Amino acid sequence: MKAAVFEEFKGNIQINNVPYPTPKSHGVVIKIKATGMCLSDWHAWQGHDSDIILPHVPGHELAGEIVEIGKDIKNFKIGDRVTVPFVGGCGSCYQCHSGNHQVCDNQSQPGFTHWGSFAEYMALNHADLNLVKLPEEITYETACILGCRFITSFRAVVEQGGLKGGEFVAVHGCGGVGLSAIMIANALGAQVIAVDINDKTLKLAKELGAIETINSKNSKDIIGEIKELTKGGAHVSLDALGHQETCFNSISNLRKRGKHIQVGLMAGAHKHPQIPMDKVIADELEILGSHGMQAYKYHEILEMIKTGKLTPDKLLEKTISLEESIALLPEMNKFKSSGVTVINSF
Ligand SMILES: [Zn+2]
Ligand SMILES: [Zn+2]
Repeated sequence: MKAAVFEEFKGNIQINNVPYPTPKSHGVVIKIKATGMCLSDWHAWQGHDSDIILPHVPGHELAGEIVEIGKDIKNFKIGDRVTVPFVGGCGSCYQCHSGNHQVCDNQSQPGFTHWGSFAEYMALNHADLNLVKLPEEITYETACILGCRFITSFRAVVEQGGLKGGEFVAVHGCGGVGLSAIMIANALGAQVIAVDINDKTLKLAKELGAIETINSKNSKDIIGEIKELTKGGAHVSLDALGHQETCFNSISNLRKRGKHIQVGLMAGAHKHPQIPMDKVIADELEILGSHGMQAYKYHEILEMIKTGKLTPDKLLEKTISLEESIALLPEMNKFKSSGVTVINSF
């Protein structure tokens, strides 16, 4: 089968012929129909993730059809249309038992802990626990947009942020994660202030429901500006980029007892950012993370898509082939795209 493979970090990415995977007794093999491209794939290729063993196939935002099942699979059958959250649980650790598969102690992540979905087929373990059955109305392209950025944003805004209608939320960074958060917050009736350095992206943020947008390149006092727009600070604020500056601003623009949610991945030089801890204690701020979402929670999003309340397909910027993806992957960090690029021909 065909797969996009790299043999060294920051090295060439090639389309190679690799062995077809075999499912474990608790696993399945999925024929990949669509897979999203993400900054995390770029981090994987850079060598920022210690789980990766070379040679490696990236890709974690996938949707497809089950073509093989292990002998212990009870809930799925060959031919089912499925997707997965980017973090898979093991089903037997404390976190999984408490229903928090997104922080499983033995988690698996396609495209990181094992070969991912930039390939014709992919094996997935603990499939009964981690797979999500797709309703007919939802396309593979839409489904794969959910698997990483959208579910992380959904959990950030709904579960971790507890955002309510009428509240102010600041979203710093309007890539796939940020735009997803804006759409979800808007669906909840909250008032979104979107911050980015790209006017084209901010225009899209406005179309998705942001009441105000700020280009931080043109702002001398971004924190002050947000505090003014939100009449004292945001109730909830997200660093949707994963950068020490956006993280700092997101915490600093909160009102008293506000919540900062770290949604953008902190990697490389941004791993340990400066935090205004004096303000955290004085204003009783909360700092939380959001790391994917459990497969069993997907039905909430799927229902909201079916009724048109959420429209993640609006985040689809373009579809490309697996061949085209290998030139694009090393460029993923250059902020060229404001939506999601999806591979849908293999
Ligand atoms: Zn991703
Ligand atoms: Zn577990």
